Amino acid sequence: MRATVLCFSGLDPSGGAGIQADIEAIGQSGAHAAIACTALTIQNSQQVFGFEATSKELLLAQANAVVADLPIRCVKSGMLGTTDNIAALAHFLHEHPDYQFVLDPVLVANSGGSLGNMATLVTAFQALIPLATIITPNTVELRALAGEQDLQLATQRLFDLGAKTILVKGGHEDTPNYILNQLYVAGELVSESRCPRLAGEYHGSGCSLASFIAGRLAQDDTLEAAVHHAETWLFQVLQNAETPVKNGQKIPKRF
Ligand code: PLP
Repeated sequence: MRATVLCFSGLDPSGGAGIQADIEAIGQSGAHAAIACTALTIQNSQQVFGFEATSKELLLAQANAVVADLPIRCVKSGMLGTTDNIAALAHFLHEHPDYQFVLDPVLVANSGGSLGNMATLVTAFQALIPLATIITPNTVELRALAGEQDLQLATQRLFDLGAKTILVKGGHEDTPNYILNQLYVAGELVSESRCPRLAGEYHGSGCSLASFIAGRLAQDDTLEAAVHHAETWLFQVLQNAETPVKNGQKIPKRF
């Protein structure tokens, strides 16, 4: 059986982000995706209308059901929705210290819609930061998690909170022609990647990147190789992204 990534993530009915992004990206990476659903959202490619979070008991029951059943090598989290779900995931990871863990610290949708109470999620995420093999914040999430506007200081603050490796994604920065991603290990910048900025907005790009990284880690890539493979793959699927009928955010074409 293929190495498995267990995702703690929410359902996005548009299929652009969340669970569907995870399944498609992890499948494309060569691994198998298992899902513990954290929330059902109501949204399309333009707007989030609301969500209902799974209870922590139901979330853990889903995850525990597959632990002995599938060859889980890595856990990936996306939208967690509530502080209870964040605490439940922290508990699960403490019980399984051998699993690698990719933390995509989702706070808001790319369309700007709420995926939980930002202030309480930020505080609760502090329990997950030291447990993560790699954290993949965009710069909005990084500044919010750190409570610090300066990116260097914000990155350092996450290391102070126990982070091991951070991929800082520059898509939200004011660089009209390119996007710069920076990979930090133990407080040091170890690699940078720069790709041309594609026109438009994309739904689920962060979920796709983090999941592909998780899939490659599950198959024993080094961190740097996993990140490099994921960035190369993501650029391709964003180039092929499809525009919804009402000109919402583009939906990545992941296969
Ligand atoms: N997870 C869910 C369920 C979502 O609905 C979203 C955004 O809408 C995200 C995660 C984060 O998406 P992105 O990859 O665009 O940051």
